[in-house]
Amino acid sequence: VQAKRGYGRVLLKLGGEMFGGGRVGIDPDVVGAVARQIAEIVADGVEVAIVIGGGNFFRGAELQQRGMDRARGDYMAMLGTVMNCLALQDFLEREHDIDTRVMTAITMSKVAEAYIPRRAARHMEKGRVVIFGAGTGMPFFSTDTTAAQRALEIGCEVVLMAKAVDGVYSDDPKVNPEAQFFEHITHRQVLERGLKVADATAFSLCMDNLMPILVFNLLEEGNIARAVGGEKIGTLVST
Ligand code: UDP
Repeated sequence: VQAKRGYGRVLLKLGGEMFGGGRVGIDPDVVGAVARQIAEIVADGVEVAIVIGGGNFFRGAELQQRGMDRARGDYMAMLGTVMNCLALQDFLEREHDIDTRVMTAITMSKVAEAYIPRRAARHMEKGRVVIFGAGTGMPFFSTDTTAAQRALEIGCEVVLMAKAVDGVYSDDPKVNPEAQFFEHITHRQVLERGLKVADATAFSLCMDNLMPILVFNLLEEGNIARAVGGEKIGTLVST
């Protein structure tokens, strides 16, 4: 069955690694290009919430491997995500004149608002882009899980998983040229086939609450608008 595509309120999940352009820190060219894509859908009246990862700064699990306490490493990593949020906010406001609010799960009132779900929804109704920082505020979770949770709580219709690949394949297409590409797959099939769309916690939240996930390639200019507008792009995971 071809599910209806074309969304009015979306949660966009961006990996932190992209923001660094493959290095530690922020690559302004990448952030600028992402902001341009987001500006397109905001101009179309789509309500947009964004979760950004922190892989371009720290990951708690990696710090743990180098001897640090896991929870403390996770907190460091969550703080890293906030820098990505501020960078994106800067590009959206300065280059596109788009009203944005950064809302963080760890309060830091000098730079961001506290995450208050109903206030976040209200910002979106007013056409403001809401960028969620500091993950869930809890160690041992991920920003994928944050994306799933926020999408559910503020009533987004879909989680748009922006990746550096076209979507979900039966196998790694770089290793196995026979790998099959899925345009549509159910949450259950993803589990049964052992495919990877998001981490297990994030994925089970989506599956249990019937939240669709659209995995698509961010690196192609205009793909966010295509994903939101209902064009056949990426892999739709839905029930
Ligand atoms: N993190 C956390 N709790 C959260 C979200 C994130 O502890 O709710 C930490 C965790 O260490 C994670 C890091 O922040 O590895 C960066 O997030 P993620 O790995 O999801 O970023 P991405 O891979 O999307 O860049």
